[in-house]
Amino acid sequence: MSPRKSKPKGKGKPLIPIDERDITTSSEVIEEHDDGIFVVRKISGSTSNKPYRCPGCDQMIPMATPHTVAWLEHDAELRRHWHNICWSKRNMRKPKVERTRNAPRY
Ligand SMILES: [Zn+2]
Repeated sequence: MSPRKSKPKGKGKPLIPIDERDITTSSEVIEEHDDGIFVVRKISGSTSNKPYRCPGCDQMIPMATPHTVAWLEHDAELRRHWHNICWSKRNMRKPKVERTRNAPRY
């Protein structure tokens, strides 16, 4: 008996519609921010083969971690690698929002 990958039991052929587009390598979206138009690419993780420093939290993004790459539309040389959460936090951050700090002190 040879060990095999477990297959979903039950019905014979998986009927999954296959999109022509390769989502893992070309899922770029354009996002408009206060400081410019950004091209945003989601990295699935398997395609990242070295650690990057996230400019959002100044922490390293370990290898093979799903994350976000973003750059100004006209400045692809300055690509930045972000944690997904840090990028979405950045999007929420608005310069004119008044900060209220009700958090208890440590
Ligand atoms: Zn981060």
